[in-house]
Amino acid sequence: MGDLKLNHSVENGSVSMLNSLDHEEFRRQGHMMIDFIADYNQNIEIYPVRSQVKPGGGGGVMYASTCEAFLCTLIAIREQKLSVIGRENLGNLVVYCSDQTHFSLKNSVQIAGISLENIRPIVTTKSDNFQLCPESLRLAIISDLEAGLIPLYLCCTVGTTSSTAVDPLGPFCDVAKEYGIWVHVDAAYAGGTCICAEFRHFLDGIEGANSFSFNAHKWLFTTFDCCCLWGKHPSALISALSTNPEILNNKATESKPVVDYKDWQMALSQRFRALKLWLVLRSYGVTGLRDFIRGHVKIAKHFESLLAGDERFEVVFPTNFAMVSFRVSPLAIPNNEDVNEFNRNLLESVNASSGAYMVHAVVRGVYVIRLAVGPTLTEYQHVNKAFKLVQDHANALLCTYQKHAWQM
Ligand code: PLP
Repeated sequence: MGDLKLNHSVENGSVSMLNSLDHEEFRRQGHMMIDFIADYNQNIEIYPVRSQVKPGGGGGVMYASTCEAFLCTLIAIREQKLSVIGRENLGNLVVYCSDQTHFSLKNSVQIAGISLENIRPIVTTKSDNFQLCPESLRLAIISDLEAGLIPLYLCCTVGTTSSTAVDPLGPFCDVAKEYGIWVHVDAAYAGGTCICAEFRHFLDGIEGANSFSFNAHKWLFTTFDCCCLWGKHPSALISALSTNPEILNNKATESKPVVDYKDWQMALSQRFRALKLWLVLRSYGVTGLRDFIRGHVKIAKHFESLLAGDERFEVVFPTNFAMVSFRVSPLAIPNNEDVNEFNRNLLESVNASSGAYMVHAVVRGVYVIRLAVGPTLTEYQHVNKAFKLVQDHANALLCTYQKHAWQM
């Protein structure tokens, strides 16, 4: 198949990807694909029954979700640790994270059989932009060691869900190394940006981590599901998760050129996720993907500048990537009405209009509305419309509040 033709357009003198696909080209290639499948089915008898490609290659593994990346890495280090200190210590293993870590870590910890009482969500502060603090980690570790507990696993995040905070990896890996803790880096949302040089500094220190995962289905233009995990020590995963039943014995596995992904995950069967990621890489190329990401960041900045032009709004967290967190400021809301309640009503009203869809987060008791630029087809005109929508709904809501105040 040929490459998809992409439309580039120029804004303010710089190239940005404002219209991703040539729709007619997409239609043409879609039809070619259907013809290929129909021809294949029609002539199925003439093809060899087995794949003719040679097995080999392999490095990372692709999962459905970050939860799986958490779970498999937790199990890898759990088994490694317990094989040394004895299985009776399962109840003493401790997992560290920040109070901004994605809540799904808790599920994975629980499924891995580690006590929920032994998760240490270390408190972050607004003044530190909600980044983990290495000294707070060290204090928590020391206190656990004094209590006879065993530090096991640390989850750092590059781009937290609520505020896109980035934990500084280097200092954490240094602390973790001193205590033999496995460091997992969760870059589910923001990891894709690291294909651009200007974002790569967020990964400084990554060489000290044991594993890293990001979701290509979040912000690398790949359809759900596609979570990519790299592990520094695949042998830890393999020895914890491998199964070797007689019915799966085969020459390729025995002669070792093959990475048997059943030994890196829970399921035996593996979807061909690599194919769709490959297709994304091949269709856009690295330059195209970088243009997309940079284009989205610019569009997010543009939305931020629209908010800045209306003094009733405030941007609550710095926009590190392409997620803008904002709210109507308390100063704009009449009669000391509850600012969180106002913003909740505003979001519900915007979303109910079906003109745009945004999400919320509550951080340190502050309700924020979040607009994420990420879908392939998002253009400037869409966020302009989204801003107008937010303004119109805020105006309507402010009128209701004012009327209400006047009637009292
Ligand atoms: N980690 C971060 C930072 C996320 O933003 C998310 C989802 O939003 C997750 C983990 C969970 O990802 P998944 O749905 O792939 O398990």
